[in-house]
Amino acid sequence: MGGHPGGPGIVAVRGAHATMSGEVDVCVVGSGPAGLAAAAAARRAGAGRVVVVDRETSPGGILPQCIHDGFGLEEFGEAFTGPEYAERAAGDAACVGVEFWQGTTALALGPGPELVLVGGSGRQVLRPRTVVVATGCRERTRGNILLPGTRPAGVFTAGTAQRLINVMGVLPGRRAVVMGSGDVGLIVARRLHLEGCEVEGVYEILTRPGGLVRNVVQCLHDHGIPLHLGHTVVEVHGDRRLEGVTVAAVDADGRVRQGTRRRVPCDTLITSLGLIPELEILRGLTDGTVDESMRTGLERVFLCGNAAFVHDTVDCVTACGRLAGRAAARHAAGLRWPRRVARVEAGEGVRQVVPGALSELAEAARFHLRLDVEGFDVEVQARARDRPLARWRLRAVSPTQAVALTAGPARLERLRQDRTLAFVARPGKEEAGGRIHRR
Ligand SMILES: Cc1cc2nc3c(=O)[nH]c(=O)nc-3n(C[C@H](O)[C@H](O)[C@H](O)COP(=O)(O)OP(=O)(O)OC[C@H]3O[C@@H](n4cnc5c(N)ncnc54)[C@H](O)[C@@H]3O)c2cc1C
Repeated sequence: MGGHPGGPGIVAVRGAHATMSGEVDVCVVGSGPAGLAAAAAARRAGAGRVVVVDRETSPGGILPQCIHDGFGLEEFGEAFTGPEYAERAAGDAACVGVEFWQGTTALALGPGPELVLVGGSGRQVLRPRTVVVATGCRERTRGNILLPGTRPAGVFTAGTAQRLINVMGVLPGRRAVVMGSGDVGLIVARRLHLEGCEVEGVYEILTRPGGLVRNVVQCLHDHGIPLHLGHTVVEVHGDRRLEGVTVAAVDADGRVRQGTRRRVPCDTLITSLGLIPELEILRGLTDGTVDESMRTGLERVFLCGNAAFVHDTVDCVTACGRLAGRAAARHAAGLRWPRRVARVEAGEGVRQVVPGALSELAEAARFHLRLDVEGFDVEVQARARDRPLARWRLRAVSPTQAVALTAGPARLERLRQDRTLAFVARPGKEEAGGRIHRR
């Protein structure tokens, strides 16, 4: 690799067999933006040998199939496409001496840490000083929500459809219905439309869109694609190939409203039902809880990127990877593994908070939250059982947008006064539209 970033296709790619011997300071599992940032940061923080393994043959994670732009505004001050961002990140990691073992799957992880890898030359065991898990997300499927009906061809997750169109050059069908209005679904709806597939509509079970407002406007409104809020797909029809779906209006509890069922002829159903962090290799060892430096409950194992928290932007994913990589380098160099001194929980009005723990080494922390609260002038508190320990005021929040809160040394000192703290969010003034969404 020269000094100039190369594309994912020309980054040095070695099969697992080529480089198994020798000591590895940091082994990163996953070469998406989180893993690439972690690996580069670990090298910059002084780690000796840093290796990234990924089951795919080229680095970038999900980014190479995201050919629209808007990636990296915070990181680079420019709007890149997904492949361009991947190229930058992979090039940067290669320039600082990160080794890429593409085409290598991490099958299992054990204490030590010990990794079982399978690649070009079969199964290998690696014992790096530290491991960073950056395995991203998988998509919730039709099976996950038990959608009734037949099982014909023509039902795709949004990610699969995106890959078919953008990477393989295949149009999945001629007339599509999109189920769910998450960002990936919105972007795929537009992509299908631009490629000449008729998108009959996007059906969202909630009364608000699942994706960012700018994506609703740019992907649906600008192209005349109808968005049906408070509606969902209730049945799939077709023998060999999809012939249609039944859609219906639903009430606040998700029950079908009488007399609203309608059959929509289509040959393609795109499901965009949310992302699930990919934690398979941690299963049975530790849950996905991390501390302020992305340390898991398993000694010298870190978790970062979308596998730790489903971030809104690739910039946040990158920052999260960098945090894990720097800490991994310090522990690879001998820093002792710290105790956890406080548990961090989601309370009223908060769906999720990461990190879920604070360690004895914590000097500052950045908390990522998903709120159930919507409105203006919202107060978020970190509370001990009986009293607030810290407060943040947010001008405008929505459940579809993640919130990041920073606690510097003074705030963190207060947060560590109790062994359990809960983040709670209170809606702003009623006249400003503040309300809590019940789960
Ligand atoms: C289908 C889909 C489409 C998306 N589209 C967009 C979009 O259009 N715009 C946007 O802003 N965001 C999009 N996102 C969000 C996107 O996931 C994040 O912005 C970002 O790519 C997450 O980075 P990551 O490094 O955490 O994970 P990923 O980019 O998902 O990378 C994870 C990597 O880990 C590898 N891996 C997983 N398990 C193993 C294992 N056991 N062994 C070896 N390798 C493994 C995978 O092969 C993958 O390369 C999309 C996400 C998905 C799932």
